[in-house]
Order: sequence, then C-alpha cells, then structure tokens
Amino acid sequence: LDFLATSDPAIAEMIQQELQRQRDHLELIASENFTSPAVLAAQGSVLTNKYAEGLPKKRYYGGCEYIDHVEQLAIDRAKQLFGAAHANVQPHSGAQANFAVFLALLQPGDTIMGMDLAHGGHLTHGSPVNVSGKWFRVVQYGVNRETEQLDYDLIREIALKEQPKLLICGYSAYSRIIEFDKFRAIADEIGAYLLADIAHIAGLVATGYHPSPIPHCHVVTTTTHKTLRGPRGGLILTADAELGKKLDKAVFPGNQGGPLEHVIAGKAVAFGEALKPEFKTYSAQVIANAQTLANQLIQRGFKIVSNGTDNHLMLVDLRSIGMTGKQADSLVSEIHITANKNTVPFDPESPFVTSGLRLGSPAMTTRGMKEPEFIEIGNIIADRLLNPEDQSIKEGCLKRVAALCEGFPLYPHLKIPVAA
Ligand code: PLP
Repeated sequence: LDFLATSDPAIAEMIQQELQRQRDHLELIASENFTSPAVLAAQGSVLTNKYAEGLPKKRYYGGCEYIDHVEQLAIDRAKQLFGAAHANVQPHSGAQANFAVFLALLQPGDTIMGMDLAHGGHLTHGSPVNVSGKWFRVVQYGVNRETEQLDYDLIREIALKEQPKLLICGYSAYSRIIEFDKFRAIADEIGAYLLADIAHIAGLVATGYHPSPIPHCHVVTTTTHKTLRGPRGGLILTADAELGKKLDKAVFPGNQGGPLEHVIAGKAVAFGEALKPEFKTYSAQVIANAQTLANQLIQRGFKIVSNGTDNHLMLVDLRSIGMTGKQADSLVSEIHITANKNTVPFDPESPFVTSGLRLGSPAMTTRGMKEPEFIEIGNIIADRLLNPEDQSIKEGCLKRVAALCEGFPLYPHLKIPVAA
C-alpha cells in the first residue's frame, strides 16, 4: 500500500476508504468474509504476472515450474479438504464454475432444474437473464409454503414430470440442511446429473458441520470466498476422476484462458487454513452466532423464514412488521450495518423491493465476535427497525455499532497509507 500511495494516490485513497468502511461497519452480508493477511499477501504477489494456460505439468507456456507447484498444492489441498477425487481450482468465480459444468454436461436446449431465484436459488441456476436461462429449458422448484423448507416429494414430482438432464441443488439464501442423498435418489430415478453448488456453505461442509455432497453428487461447485474465507474465486470438485477430465476441458479451453495463479495461490493458502483445527472452531462459531442472532430477532418479535437456521445465514421476513426489504436495508445501512434486501419465498414484492433482509454471521465471526456480540447485533437491528423514525435511537445504534467494531479490530497490521 505504501508503493501505491506514492505511485497512484487516487487508487490508494480509495483502498484506504474501503478499508476504513470495512473496519467501521458490521458486515452481515452472508456471502462476504474477511480473508487472512496471508491470503491477501499471496494474492497481491508476483504470481499475477504469469501466464499458465493448461494444467500443472501440461502448460502451453514456458516458465511454469514454480506456478505448477502452487496450483498442484491448491488442487491437493482442495481434494483433501473436501474428500474429492478431482479438483479444478481455475474457475475465476462461482458463476464460471457453474458455466463450465453446463459446458461439460449439457447441450443447448437441454432441460435443467434448479431452485427459483425468489426462493433462494442463484442467478446461474436458470434465471432468464443468465446464460443458464437463455441456453437451456429451465424448470424451477421452490420451498414448501408451510415449512419454508425443501419439499423432496414435490421436487421429485416436478423432476419426474419434466425429466431434466441436470438437477441443481445448493442455494444463495436457504438456511436449512440440504439432504444431498435425497436429491441423488431423484436424479437416479430420471437418469439426470446432479450438481451441488455449495458456494455458501463450503466452509461448513469442509469442517463437517453440513453433510458433504461429494459422495452423492456427480459434480460440486463452490465459491472460495464465502464461508470458506479465501480469495474471490471458484472451484469444481468431483468424486469421478473421468468426469473430472471433461470438467477440466470445459474450464480451459472451454470458457477461460489463462488461470489467475495469484488467486490460485490465495486459494491454496485458504485451503491450508481450512484444514487446520482453528477453522473447525471458527465454523462452529459461525453457526452458533447465526443461531444466536436468529433467536434474538425472534425474541424481539421478528419472523425468520423457516423459523431459524442450521447454517450461517437467515432471512428476516419483514411482512409481519409492515416493512419492505428495501426500507430495512436502508435503515440498517444508516447505522453502519451492511446487509442485503432479499426476496422471501412467495414474496408479494418485486426483487427490487422485496419483503426480506438476508443476514449472515461469517464475516463478524472472523473478527472474533461470539454469542454476546450477536445478541447485541440482534438488539441493535431490532431497535432500529422497530423505531425507524426515532433519531435518538438511531444515534444510540450508531454508537453501539462503533463500540462493537472498535472491540474487534480488522487487519490491525494494515497501515493506512498517507497519500503523497
Ligand atoms: N452460486 C451460488 C449459490 C452463489 O450464492 C453465488 C454467489 O453469490 C454464486 C454461485 C456465484 O459466485 P460468483 O459471484 O463468484 O460468480
């Protein structure tokens, strides 16, 4: 950062402002986290200079002898972490990982079946604005209206009727355990491939706090930056080594060029961290904190979708207090809490307005917060949302957020550079 402050003060200042924002705000976006200083260092390294199209020991460029070790270590650690026979660490993002799976397994016009975006699915699982919705015939399932949880009988019924070639499970806003074995039984009945996209829960899967999809799914994709706490990026895993070769080709040359080896080094570091016992402790705390927050909000009169959480996130259904997600998002952001508006199942509001607020615990757990702090976070959110017009409560909430942030410093080693 010191170099940057001298050579490009404008960008240095923007980074400084973003660092300060991350330090001063309670980060409750369920898909975000704070990587370790070691991951930041690996990513900001000379590895960014190297082209390495291909795979370790099978490159199209010279000079890959050290890069090969980096990527191979990332692959080996990913395989160990998830108990997979094959890993591809090159996808630039979760979306790229999913696209590679489509390219490997499907032809344009084939039928795919994933969860409706409005019920917690992801854009890349068949949304009309995404390539997955443009190139394939999309069938969607949702959660059960009463339980607000997966309804395997209903999913089976739709699958038998629509005969998708690819069945997708794994979500962006679903707070309950996914029973991958039940999905596999459905996929087998219709001869479909089963893809689990564990972008959100990967860290919980790696540590055994969520059942693993690896034994049950043909392919597993994930991001590396959410509960897994690595750099932004994607990862593809499979228990089937033959299928792995096809997936490798779909990543490169199928839909990417040169891999981002500096990011892959960051992934290797993060996988190494996730293999340590401390990460297991961290993951248990992520769940305990999310459950504490959900319970506190329930105690304060809020409705949580499915009445709780088994993982790192929850959806607050704001209809019971007559508020929209858009309003709630802006009210909490005024007191330095970062979250996101989100549709709830069977939402009467548009995706731009929504009736829900999605909250997650991974980032603030990384900062060291535990149950007492998450009770306080629940109370701050409740005080703000239940008294939206009260300026003195707003001021009080701002002070309470500042006190929490000061108590749990973020990246204390990072000095904010002084602009030249
Ligand atoms: N899959 C799921 C379930 C996600 O929640 C996300 C991101 O939020 C993605 C894929 C896409 O990841 P990326 O933003 O890295 O493309």
